[in-house]
Amino acid sequence: MNSADIATIKSLLATPQNIVIIPHKNPDGDAIGSCLGLSKFLDCLGQNSTVVAPNDYPKFLKWIPGNEEILNFERENSQSKRLIEEATLIFTLDFNHLSRTGQMESYLEAASADFIMIDHHQQPSDYARVTYSDVSMSSTCEMVYNFIDSLDGVSKISKDIATCLYVGIMTDTGSFKYASTTSQTHRVVAQLIDKGAENMQIHQQVFDNNSPARLHLLGVALNNLVILEKYKTAYITMSQDELDKHNYSKGDTEGFVNYGLTLDGIIFAVIFIENKEEGIIKISFRSIGDFSANEFAREHFNGGGHTNAAGGRSDFNMEETTERFIELLKNYQKQLNS
Ligand code: 5GP
Ligand code: MN
Repeated sequence: MNSADIATIKSLLATPQNIVIIPHKNPDGDAIGSCLGLSKFLDCLGQNSTVVAPNDYPKFLKWIPGNEEILNFERENSQSKRLIEEATLIFTLDFNHLSRTGQMESYLEAASADFIMIDHHQQPSDYARVTYSDVSMSSTCEMVYNFIDSLDGVSKISKDIATCLYVGIMTDTGSFKYASTTSQTHRVVAQLIDKGAENMQIHQQVFDNNSPARLHLLGVALNNLVILEKYKTAYITMSQDELDKHNYSKGDTEGFVNYGLTLDGIIFAVIFIENKEEGIIKISFRSIGDFSANEFAREHFNGGGHTNAAGGRSDFNMEETTERFIELLKNYQKQLNS
């Protein structure tokens, strides 16, 4: 953050504000961790803030400190709308465009509050009074740590704040292994552990809480894996029927897409997940190296994200979607093999 932005934020936070903090739709560990970590820090400054999520999030995050204080826009609809309307300051965390909040978008557009964006996705849009966007960052949680540091607030980081921020850094870096993990990320994480984040316990609570049904669903996913050697690509499909048969609940397919990348020689991995209720196929893209999952998702599947991790959607059925995907790959054969 530059010094002008820091000065603006300091002056905004010098008086009591009605603050709402918003993650993207289908929030992940980084979105939830950053919102709750920021909310708890703002509490320390004597501010009043509420996290409003566009919809529900996976149960492997439902232990996180402050979990019970999060409002769900779908469930607590009128209360959420009122808070947005009355807000004087709205933080938007871990997304780059208001459309990423789904049905909240129009209410946010109509809000009179000042906006502050903290985010690490590519191509940020220009709606905020302060835009703290840095695509080189491992996670929004690392950015919230920097935000706190800019306000000279590191001494205020409690065990709960440290835990929230640790969750997001850990999940967005694939447990500290992705290219976005820097020595500075590790310095921040070291600070968070010193502040009380129980790293082993956090890891277990997020990753070692499988139900038998989820492991069986993983078996189905791996069985459906298709390898396209000449495109260095592997993809997985999951139909609604397969999900239903295994008692699918939100978050159960998290991480499945990464299995494709564990194959020797594969640099592009994709999962197509049918969502009958929304009438779409939700898609996750992962890549290794220079091949841009972000560009691919943006250009062909109405999505976006980061260079090596992006998401998107298709309004066609599964068969049409995968056929179209394979057709598209022909145009990328050179890039995928360079
Ligand atoms: P995931 O595949 O885990 O859902 O998402 C990977 C990354 O892409 C995350 O950073 C996520 O925020 C972003 N992302 C997921 N879906 C979409 C989408 O539909 N549009 C955009 N712009 N980004 C997405
Ligand atoms: Mn993130």
